Amino acid sequence: MATKTLDDLFYAGLRDLLYAEKKVLKALPRMARGAQAKELKAAFEKHKEQTEGHVERLQLVFDIIDKRAMGKTCPAIDGIIEEGEEILEEFKGTTAIDAGLIGAAQAVEHYEITRYGTLKRWAENLKLPKAAELLDATLKEESKTNEDLTALADAGLNKQAVAA
Ligand code: FE
Ligand code: FE
Repeated sequence: MATKTLDDLFYAGLRDLLYAEKKVLKALPRMARGAQAKELKAAFEKHKEQTEGHVERLQLVFDIIDKRAMGKTCPAIDGIIEEGEEILEEFKGTTAIDAGLIGAAQAVEHYEITRYGTLKRWAENLKLPKAAELLDATLKEESKTNEDLTALADAGLNKQAVAA
């Protein structure tokens, strides 16, 4: 019987995240263009730059385990991004677009937070402290991004959607 271990889970998880991050990298400029409030546009642009760093960190983690950095289709992120695209199309130019895009982006951040949280712990279990550190650095940026989006929603972008 073939044996699979935490190493295999860790590698599979990294491949899932690499695919997801690259997909997010393509979606963020579209979200920035679709956003109306300049603070929200700026938040998406800032996170696009951070996301480039997330891809680089993942590549460093692949190097640590001496495996090829090769993405693996992640149907979860495909679905989350598809829903974001629907918001972009269906709410384009309306007063509700920013509230919709914040919600869509927060779904992405939560997906990333759960994956990075798991992989960071697995890296610790596998005695890969440098990998755990890299994954934790990205985890912190994803969490902060999620909090910043909540702040933008609370600062008025949700209210604006109601007042229409
Ligand atoms: Fe990310
Ligand atoms: Fe993110």
